[in-house]
Amino acid sequence: MSALVEIVDLVKTFPVKSGMLRRTTGYVRAVDHVNLQIAKGETLGLVGESGCGKSTLGRVLVRLLDPTSGRILFDGKDLATLQGKELRALRSQFQIIFQDPYSALDPRTPVGNSIAEGLLVHGVPKEEGHERVHEMLRLVGLQPSHAQRYPHEFSGGQRQRIGIARALVLHPKFVVCDEPVSALDVSVQAQILNLLKELQRELNLTLLFISHNLAVVEHISDRVAVMYLGRIVEITDRDTLYRDPRHPYTQALLSAIPIPEPGRKRRRQVLQGDVPSPVNPPAGCAFHPRCPIAAEVCAKEAPELRPTAPGSRHLASCHLRTGDHRHLAPTETAPA
Ligand code: SF4
Repeated sequence: MSALVEIVDLVKTFPVKSGMLRRTTGYVRAVDHVNLQIAKGETLGLVGESGCGKSTLGRVLVRLLDPTSGRILFDGKDLATLQGKELRALRSQFQIIFQDPYSALDPRTPVGNSIAEGLLVHGVPKEEGHERVHEMLRLVGLQPSHAQRYPHEFSGGQRQRIGIARALVLHPKFVVCDEPVSALDVSVQAQILNLLKELQRELNLTLLFISHNLAVVEHISDRVAVMYLGRIVEITDRDTLYRDPRHPYTQALLSAIPIPEPGRKRRRQVLQGDVPSPVNPPAGCAFHPRCPIAAEVCAKEAPELRPTAPGSRHLASCHLRTGDHRHLAPTETAPA
């Protein structure tokens, strides 16, 4: 399958300002040399702890934030450098669904008008706009008559349906879903996830699904990327990642997922310490202060993201779990 989105060496930094004069005293590297490809019609899950840079990456991809450097190839065009008219013309093709649709909806505007906003900006005639809003409301499981109601008249799940309608009304090709179910009750989460899956199939969408919840990501993704301190540390197809995680960080995250069977528990791997400051990340492997199997080399050399076995599409950035295991610690054995 060909890539719809290709991210090449993408970096996003934010200045850290301090003192009376608000001088820049450092930079937070929220996205740190990320390379990714997302195939047409694919759902790529992006997971990691809060503050790892996943939402920043999503916002850069839809150009709500400007990248610091790197390329974002979308259908062959470099979104990273597009500005003004050219960027506006392409905007309808990539959209974002937020965690809290309430904050994106004007409480004094009927939801139909909020959904239609993007259509008006892109010059769609009013009559046709009404038709498309009604069609979208039906598609997300609401009624056309709901267009006249205000955001506070809906439940959390219904508001997320409105957020989805708003993102999809322009018929985008690529949608970033940024924690779209984490503010919802578990029973409603399943409905919204199933709706997104159906819409993805029906409209042939390409999705980047961002979540800190690995159980949710497992439900919806074709492939999964794991992010730590701005970097991708592991990526592979969903089944391989959940069956055979290689990076110690991924293993710790997966060990925290509850097993839905009474009496059965996983052996939980509790990570030591907090996520280090992204202003001053540790040298070598950024995960080494928390890694249960860190070796001497880990504090000195940053591992590359590379195949876990020759020719494999399962990539991880770990000295001890990839390549020829030349840096194995004396007590560590090679994975089978
Ligand atoms: Fe742990 Fe070293 Fe692998 Fe980093 S490179 S994940 S510190 S073993």
